[in-house]
Amino acid sequence: MLNALSVDLEDWYMGLGVPPHKWNLCEDRIVKSTGKILDLLRGFDVKATFFVLGWIAEQYPELILAIKKENHEIASHGYLHKCVFNQSAQEFEFDLKKSISCISKITGEKILGYRAPCWSIRKKSFWALDILKRYDIKYDSSIYPVKFPFFGLPGDKRYPYLINKNLMEFPPSVIKILGKNIPFAGGIFLRMFPYWVVHKGIKLINKKKQPALIHIHPRELDENFSPVKYLSFKWKVFQTIRIGKTEDKFRLLLKNFRFGPIKDVFSKFCEK
Ligand SMILES: [Zn+2]
Repeated sequence: MLNALSVDLEDWYMGLGVPPHKWNLCEDRIVKSTGKILDLLRGFDVKATFFVLGWIAEQYPELILAIKKENHEIASHGYLHKCVFNQSAQEFEFDLKKSISCISKITGEKILGYRAPCWSIRKKSFWALDILKRYDIKYDSSIYPVKFPFFGLPGDKRYPYLINKNLMEFPPSVIKILGKNIPFAGGIFLRMFPYWVVHKGIKLINKKKQPALIHIHPRELDENFSPVKYLSFKWKVFQTIRIGKTEDKFRLLLKNFRFGPIKDVFSKFCEK
C-alpha cells in the first residue's frame, strides 16, 4: 500500500502569533531544516508532496528548485499563512492566486494540490472549495476530521474522497477509538505519540485498504533551535514539545512503510 507523505514548507515563525510584517526580523531556519528533510528522503528513496507557502517560494526560489530537482511534488500552502475562516472569499482568492503564481513561476509546472494553513477549511469556509476548483486545483488536504481548539471538522470522512466534481479531498490520517477520531499522523500528535502508536495507526488504515497521510514541518527536525524569545509560552510548548523525538520516528516511518507524493497516491487510488 502506497501511503502519502507531505511536508508543509514554512518557517518556524509562520502562523503562530508572529504577524507577516515581522517575519523579516526572525531568524531564518528553513533552508537548513528543509535540507535535513531532503537528505532523509533521499536516503530512503522516498518522494513527498511539499505544500509550499508562496512567501517562502518568493524568498527562497533556489530551495523550491532543489525540492523540484529531487522529483518531489510541489503544491500550494497559500501565500501568507492566513486561516481561511478569517478571510473573505475575495481575500482567500487573492492569497491563493498569488501563491500559485509565485510557485509555478519558479517550477514551470501546474499546481494540483492545496493545503490550507492550520487546516482552516471548516463547514463555514466551504466556499473556498469552489475557488480552488476555479483555479484548477485537483485535490485539497485541509479538512481535519477531529475536534481541536484551532481547527477540525469532527465526524468528517477519514479517508480520501471526491468532495465535489473534479476535486478530491485527502484528510490527514486519524484513527477511530470509541467513536472519536484521534489524530496521530503529524505535527504535535506525531511528536507526542510513541512510534508504536503511529505505526499501529497506519497499519489499521492500510488494513482497510486505505492510504494513510502523514505530515511534517521542517522545524520539527530542527531540534537545536529554541524560539523562546519570540513566542509566548503556549506557542513555544505547542511548537517544540518532544521535538527531539521526531527524527527517529520519521526515520522509522520511512523505513517501515511505502510513501509517495499525494498525486501518486491519488492516481493509484483512482485506478481502483
Ligand atoms: Zn502551515
